Amino acid sequence: MYCPYCRHVDSRVLDSRVTEDGSAIRRRRECRSCARRFTTLEQMQLVVVKRSGVIEPFSREKVVNGVRKACKGRPVTEADLAKLGQKVEERIRAGGQAEIPADDVGIAILGPLKELDPVAYLRFASVYRQYESVDDFEAEIALLRASLVHAETDAHAETGAVKEPEAPPAAPRKARARQPRAATPEPEAETVEVLTAEQLF
Ligand SMILES: [Zn+2]
Repeated sequence: MYCPYCRHVDSRVLDSRVTEDGSAIRRRRECRSCARRFTTLEQMQLVVVKRSGVIEPFSREKVVNGVRKACKGRPVTEADLAKLGQKVEERIRAGGQAEIPADDVGIAILGPLKELDPVAYLRFASVYRQYESVDDFEAEIALLRASLVHAETDAHAETGAVKEPEAPPAAPRKARARQPRAATPEPEAETVEVLTAEQLF
């Protein structure tokens, strides 16, 4: 890299440090000609490979834009979306690959989205996974419901609340089961447009 002051081609590395999130290396350099100092940031370039073979640079914004669509009408803030984008990028970078198949980007989105909002997750998963049958979709909902019941049980354990073994789960379970069902196959008045990772990039 040229010296930003005098355009000289050669510089000496004074110090190298991995950035806090571990995704890049910062280097303090000194120009061998004018002796001025500057910093460079080296980051692994991430690209997304589509099924057609087309390559696009990875973009956190594109991930967030796609997820935002799936979150339409849901209690999800821009800050939540930004955090999700960061998590997805971290997951992908942690894989250590420079070229990521678009499908893998979709998989990296699913986990954090499930934690963020179950309905948005189902919307996204329904197009992304292209369920072969209603049974597959039902199975996904059953899994999700089970994880929600788990989360609820954990919450009760943390607060020390007493949970009766039989009666209580029935009512809230039904309510939760209906919510994603109504939202996904037959969206109310507004349609929710959800794109797969393949379509995002
Ligand atoms: Zn210089």
